[in-house]
Order: sequence, then structure tokens, then C-alpha cells
Amino acid sequence: MERIGIILLGPPGSGKGTQAKELEKKFGFVHISTGDLLRKAVREGTPVGKIAEKYMREGALVPDDVILKLVNEALDGVDKFVLDGFPRNTSQAEKLDDMMREKSGKITKAILLEVTDDEIVRRLLARRVCPSCGRVYNLITSPPKDDNKCDVCGVQLIRRSDDNEDTIRNRLSVYRNETAPLIDYYERKGILVKIDAEKSPDEVFNAIVRVIGAH
Ligand code: ADP
Ligand code: ZN
Repeated sequence: MERIGIILLGPPGSGKGTQAKELEKKFGFVHISTGDLLRKAVREGTPVGKIAEKYMREGALVPDDVILKLVNEALDGVDKFVLDGFPRNTSQAEKLDDMMREKSGKITKAILLEVTDDEIVRRLLARRVCPSCGRVYNLITSPPKDDNKCDVCGVQLIRRSDDNEDTIRNRLSVYRNETAPLIDYYERKGILVKIDAEKSPDEVFNAIVRVIGAH
């Protein structure tokens, strides 16, 4: 069995999670989000969660060994996946290559979602999430029907604790310094594709579908 995976690259707020969920729904890619896995660990108070919490609060990267263990477990038995939020630095990307060699898997595309800094800050400050089902809203572009409540669960929406201006600035600088070098990394492998992610979620999704072709 050959496993295949695609990577979504891009700054926080570029829409990786939104697009990955669509890829899961429409094409059966298993969505692996290290951010979601970490938030779950923090909520459940697991040992991983206890380590991750302080890094996440500051918008810093959680140590590689913690992340690699999470990803390794998440990949278990999965043959078609989309990575969201991983890899986030060169050493994680190299480890992913090792993992793929061991598990006879292959990353077929790294898709970069391009968004300007101004737009990122605008999006993240307007982002709200449902604490119950995890659905993501944007007060400007995709508000809930009923004032600040989840359309599905009726629960009061919350702001992610790292969606404040200071932490956003930190996450952006971590992205620039540590994650952006991966653009070159995947370009050299010949699998990088850039997509204008300031367009609507539907338009971005269609562009991604064109890139991955029939899967
Ligand atoms: P965003 O992409 O919007 O910044 P994520 O949900 O992907 O948010 O990640 C939230 C936080 O979780 C990050 O700021 C970081 O602390 C941690 N994190 C997520 N993925 C990784 C990773 N691959 N390596 C290290 N830390 C990570
Ligand atoms: Zn909900």
C-alpha cells in the first residue's frame, strides 16, 4: 500500500484548517491538524497538553519531539491524509521525510496558501470558534446566524486564547523565521504550488482541487 499525503503551508489564518476539512469531507483525506491535536491534549490535561500549553499561549513552537510523536500516532493506519500546521520548521520536514520512507508514504504536493499580513490580523481578530464542536466562524465573512452562537450546537462562541494581537504578532514572526523556509524546501523537491488565499473559501478550494487533480 502506498500512502499519499499533501501538506498545506501558509501563515496562521490563511485557511489551512478550513480547506483541510473540505478535503476530508469531499475527497476522504484524513485531516491531521497538529494545532487541533494539541488543543485537545490541553483540554484533556494530558502530559502532552501540560507541556504544550505554555508554548501555545505565547505563540511559540511546541518542542519537535512532542509534535513528532503526535503526528506519528495520527498517521497510524492512514493511507490518504492532509497535514495542517505540520511541518512547521526544517527539522520537522526532514523528520517527516524519514517517516514517509519508513511507512512507504509519499508527499505529493505542498500547497502554499498566500495571504498578506494585514489580512491575517483582520481574520484572526474576527475568528470565533465553537467550544463544543470546533466549527470556525468569522464575524465579518462567515458570521453565525444567531448572535455569537454556534449554528449547530447553539453554544456561545469563544475566541481562541492565542487570537489576541500580541500572540498573533509572535505567531507571524515564528512563521516568517521558522516555517517560511519550507517554501524553498518543497520548491527544491518540485512539489510546491502557490495559491492566492485571499479569495473566497470556495474559490481557494477549487484552486486546490485543480492542483491535486483526481485523487
Ligand atoms: P495557527 O496556524 O492559526 O497559528 P495552529 O492551530 O496550527 O494555529 O497552532 C496553534 C499553536 O500550536 C501554535 O502557535 C504552536 O504553539 C502549536 N503548534 C501547532 N503545530 C505545531 C508544530 N508542527 N510544531 C510546533 N508547534 C505547533
Ligand atoms: Zn458547535
